[in-house]
Amino acid sequence: MIKANLHTHSLYCDGKAPVEDVITTAIDKGFDVLGFSSHAPVPFDNNFSIKDDSSLKEYVNEVRTLSRKYAGDIKVYLALEADYIPGISTPFAEFRRENNLDYIIGSVHLVKSPEDELWFIDGPRHEIYDEGLKMFFKGDIATAVKAYYHQVNEMITTQRPDMVGHIDKVKMHNKGRYFEEDESWYVKLVDETLDFVKANDTIMEVNTRGIYRGRSTSLFPGKEILKKAARMNIPISLNSDAHKPQELEGYYREATNILLECGYKESYYFMDGQWKAFALK
Ligand SMILES: [Zn+2]
Ligand SMILES: [Zn+2]
Repeated sequence: MIKANLHTHSLYCDGKAPVEDVITTAIDKGFDVLGFSSHAPVPFDNNFSIKDDSSLKEYVNEVRTLSRKYAGDIKVYLALEADYIPGISTPFAEFRRENNLDYIIGSVHLVKSPEDELWFIDGPRHEIYDEGLKMFFKGDIATAVKAYYHQVNEMITTQRPDMVGHIDKVKMHNKGRYFEEDESWYVKLVDETLDFVKANDTIMEVNTRGIYRGRSTSLFPGKEILKKAARMNIPISLNSDAHKPQELEGYYREATNILLECGYKESYYFMDGQWKAFALK
């Protein structure tokens, strides 16, 4: 197994360390592959994404320059974690074309409501999740969660990301308060989304961040989804979504065991211009 992480943030977005510090830590930890995936700019004020086009250009130049500087020690790749918000976010193809990216992780952190408000399902505070659910979806969790998965489906088919990020993120602030993940309406939504992942040859990310940050009791996605996806031969990529250098391999050992238990034998990583499968052990 190689050591790799393709989902990494830095000071350009909501990460806590400069790009170069992340690279040198990755080298110290024996990583073979490191991909930077700062949050792509979105056309409204926020505290998580790259601010604007000029910061995006700086990010692209810095990652490419440092990738050359450390080429003898580690393979460094340039990517974005791009939000998909229908009618609002920049088309992924435009980000790809303008910045010559190695790959794109497509993620939904903001769910568009029927009245066009944005429900923020990420971040450390569940009050924001609860408020949005109440105000934008009249407290109807099934409708809200359905809007989330439908937005993910639409992202997969219209934006064609290489990888779909933390596919069941919407569960994070639920914590058994609004629904159980084995309820039939929820299982049906997940099944539909897995069909879209499969049909579009999308790689499904396995994201450990929720666990090592203590925000989730299971991986994104959880075991039941992983078992189903393994039976469907959906390719996965194990990543830490590191916001600090010390998080680069957060919960990797445990996650690897969970993946083996769920029927997975390999994880996909981008390397030398293409996606390749690497044995989990
Ligand atoms: Zn994310
Ligand atoms: Zn991320």
